Amino acid sequence: MAENTGRSKRIGQYRNPRLRPVESEWEWQLRAACRGTDSAVFFAPTGESRRERRRREIAAKTVCISCPVRVACLKHALAVREPHGVWGGLSETERQALRPASA
Ligand code: SF4
Repeated sequence: MAENTGRSKRIGQYRNPRLRPVESEWEWQLRAACRGTDSAVFFAPTGESRRERRRREIAAKTVCISCPVRVACLKHALAVREPHGVWGGLSETERQALRPASA
């Protein structure tokens, strides 16, 4: 009997193929430099001051600078209009500025 890995077991649970995750769309996350990093570095807590935000975003962007999947991450955030956090080295405000004026 072949050993069943956790990954194949999870994918096998999706009987409806339309609900099955498309690996090519998320596999870049496996190579993310922020894996294992506290998500609080990337997402603003309630009541964050401007100064705290600036420091937090600099810390997040420092991680992103060397990330091998930065472009894929940014494309994803722009595609899904991710409203919060630092993605692909850009803050939500910076990503908003990249959108067309009518969007
Ligand atoms: S670009 Fe930044 S937020 Fe995106 S995966 Fe890489 S380290 Fe994480």
